[in-house]
Amino acid sequence: MSRAEGIVIKSTGSWYLVKQADGSVINCRIKGKMRMDDIKSTNPVAVGDLVEWEPEEEGNGVIAEIRQRKNYIIRRATNLSKQSHIIAANIDQAILMVTINYPVTTSIFIDRFLASAEAYRIPVVIVFNKIDRFDHKHMKELEAIRSIYTEIGYETILLSAKKQEDITEFSDLLTNKVSVIAGHSGVGKSTLINRIEPGLNLKTSEISDAHHSGKHTTTFAEMHPLRQGGYIIDTPGIRGFGLYDMAENELHHYFREIFAASSACQYNNCTHVQEPGCAVKRLVAEGAIAASRYNNYVNIFLNKDEKYR
Ligand code: GDP
Ligand code: ZN
Repeated sequence: MSRAEGIVIKSTGSWYLVKQADGSVINCRIKGKMRMDDIKSTNPVAVGDLVEWEPEEEGNGVIAEIRQRKNYIIRRATNLSKQSHIIAANIDQAILMVTINYPVTTSIFIDRFLASAEAYRIPVVIVFNKIDRFDHKHMKELEAIRSIYTEIGYETILLSAKKQEDITEFSDLLTNKVSVIAGHSGVGKSTLINRIEPGLNLKTSEISDAHHSGKHTTTFAEMHPLRQGGYIIDTPGIRGFGLYDMAENELHHYFREIFAASSACQYNNCTHVQEPGCAVKRLVAEGAIAASRYNNYVNIFLNKDEKYR
């Protein structure tokens, strides 16, 4: 039977919308007990998956094969079956939206997210939103936080999703890429996506507070095609890309500046927590590595950041 290929843009658990290169969308189910061998997950297919499908009666299709994923975001199991849920696959970049106020995004949330994205080699753009609400004092605080991240090589953008007229600098970053947008509830993700793609008309929190309260139940991510080319994936409540499964001694690989300094530590297996002759701790004392980054590294290393969830 002839097969066609497409990309999964929406999933309901049993049905998948598969978009073809010509823009048409086919409703597909999965063939038998198909699964990816390497991951135990409740859903074998996720948005972003490139699939091959075969036509079926009534214009529907059957997904027959999933192409090798270049990466994926997974929500680890909390239930007894120990099965995880794949939120999205084949992501080109992550947009981490933060607000230093209204609501507060903590630096440990940012650093945990960045570390997990490093682990999956997913580039991150940090968007600081709601700058229209910040007075001089807040703006100075924001610039100080921003410089911590620009100095270690992250791209950052200051924005007002609501008030700013020109958001092309941000919009251009999305063209022809698969981007996932993350950040606390209320930071302005839906507002910004609606600015880029008004036709989507996503609900913002003013009118959907009741809806938000249910956000921790299993939710399927949706991938929105952009007119400019590319997709944006809106994922309720992701905190990162599966950092939980990471071995402790790997963590420092994912804090760029800490890893860069680690070759000068006295011990080559230095964890930078309490060893003597630690170059990382020296650079923190000298102010060359931001204290907030180091403290967050230690807290994540010692598993003490859970309370910041
Ligand atoms: P989400 O939960 O991240 O999708 O956040 P929403 O897009 O629903 O926005 C939450 C609230 O913040 C809404 O009341 C928005 O109108 C408001 N908001 C979003 N962006 C901005 C902004 O740049 N400035 C101001 N003042 N409010 C904003
Ligand atoms: Zn060290």
